[in-house]
Amino acid sequence: MNEKTVISYPIPPEVSRVTSALRKVGFEAYLVGGCVRDILQDVKPKDWDITTNAKPEEIQELFENTFYENDYGTVGIVSETEDPTLKVIEITPYRSEGAYTDKRRPDSVSFHGKLEDDLKRRDFTINAIAYDDSKGQLKDIFEGLKDIQDKVIRTVGDPHARFGEDALRILRAVRLSTDLGFTIDLATQNAIIEQASDLKHISMERIRDEFSKMIMTKNPMIGIVMCQKLGLLKYIAPEVESGIDVEQNGDHIYSVWEHNLRALQHSADRGWPLHVRLAALFHDIAKPETRRWSNEKKDWTFYGHDVVGGRVTRKVLERLKYPQKIVDSASALVRYHLFFSDIDKITLSAVRRIVKNVGPENVWDLMNVRACDRIGMGRPKEAPYRLRKYQSMIEEAMRAPISVGMLKIDGDKLMEVTHETPGPKLGYTLHALLEEVLDDPERNTEDYLVKRSIELIKLPIEELKKLGEEGMEKKEEAEEGELAIIRKRHGVK
Ligand code: ATP
Ligand code: MG
Repeated sequence: MNEKTVISYPIPPEVSRVTSALRKVGFEAYLVGGCVRDILQDVKPKDWDITTNAKPEEIQELFENTFYENDYGTVGIVSETEDPTLKVIEITPYRSEGAYTDKRRPDSVSFHGKLEDDLKRRDFTINAIAYDDSKGQLKDIFEGLKDIQDKVIRTVGDPHARFGEDALRILRAVRLSTDLGFTIDLATQNAIIEQASDLKHISMERIRDEFSKMIMTKNPMIGIVMCQKLGLLKYIAPEVESGIDVEQNGDHIYSVWEHNLRALQHSADRGWPLHVRLAALFHDIAKPETRRWSNEKKDWTFYGHDVVGGRVTRKVLERLKYPQKIVDSASALVRYHLFFSDIDKITLSAVRRIVKNVGPENVWDLMNVRACDRIGMGRPKEAPYRLRKYQSMIEEAMRAPISVGMLKIDGDKLMEVTHETPGPKLGYTLHALLEEVLDDPERNTEDYLVKRSIELIKLPIEELKKLGEEGMEKKEEAEEGELAIIRKRHGVK
């Protein structure tokens, strides 16, 4: 069987070192799972998994730098390498599984057994091929290679039985199909449709991990559509489904559902990170519930869909047990996705407000969600000048302004050393100091400023006032100068 298959993909020495060490002392060792699927397609594996008839303790005795990974006896071997896909190589003992009564885990797992039993418990034929890298031979008892060549996802054995054992496999089928661009075999598809509701028994964390992997593929739009058509989306994020067939107003050619999906797809086309992709998918999630007909406008309105959408996004992501950071950033992006649009009217103070609201750490992502929104409407990319203008204004809004707040002496200290009470004299003194510091930043030390303020405060008030006013002018000039540099860098006026 497939003896003639030539694998041209080079097995990294970190990996063959492990398999040959196992074989040398008489154990069997095979590459298995995703990495074999990948190398058969000449794709670089994301991680390397090895399966063996050695027991966990026996594996640990053979290698240094090992750790126990999970309940399945997996031993992780840490390799010294820069390549992240090789840092931890996982070895899992052959195992066969007892009956599944709760639709998610086997009642018992045993580590005795044969390679055949281990392959039999795996989810799909394409994931159930073992590769002996010493002989260059495949163990492919379920014809996984043929399914890889035909680009088909098919369960190992009866799909009903296999999904009944662990319903997460239902979602894995769609995630792998999205990721690999494979179709799902018809019998497998029918079982998915029939058993979709078994996803109710699966923990949100496991669902979330597969969902995230799907969102992070190159074609998440196809994945979500497939989840919807197969009846899975309602167990992941039913809120997204409510946008189906919901017609929008004048500017929009797509339904809310299709618009959200296209926005998501753009985020993937640009390679943006998970929280931006989630925000793109959810940005108009509350349009269905906020839609009202306006007799005056003779059109639909969606007032407040940003505010409600931010809340709904938070609810969905919390339900899916996403880390707090992702929940916070994605919901802030949805909440503020409607920010400024009219470049000629937008003021710097409005931009400052948006930076403050969404958080400076999210502001560039907000620009990206905005791009997703726009492309998702079927509109052309933002004109380069406008885009640069926004970028410039955001930078202008985010920079720390030049002010007496920069001085290494504050009002309290100043009063303490000058014995002066609050009033114009203190203001003049601070601005006079600021002028000196702008002239020579080296002077911005408490020692120097204390010394100078004692001298300045003794000056006649008229003279001090003049110095203070010069300081204020200098400050404005310096401000303008900094803004001009930013604008010039972005090539805008
Ligand atoms: P990826 O390339 O995204 O990591 P993968 O196929 O390697 O995909 P993993 O989650 O890393 O996916 O799982 C490794 C292997 O373990 C799979 O190839 C499959 O053989 C097996 N496996 C994983 N999850 C299940 C499951 N729920 N039921 C049966 N077998 C599974
Ligand atoms: Mg893997």
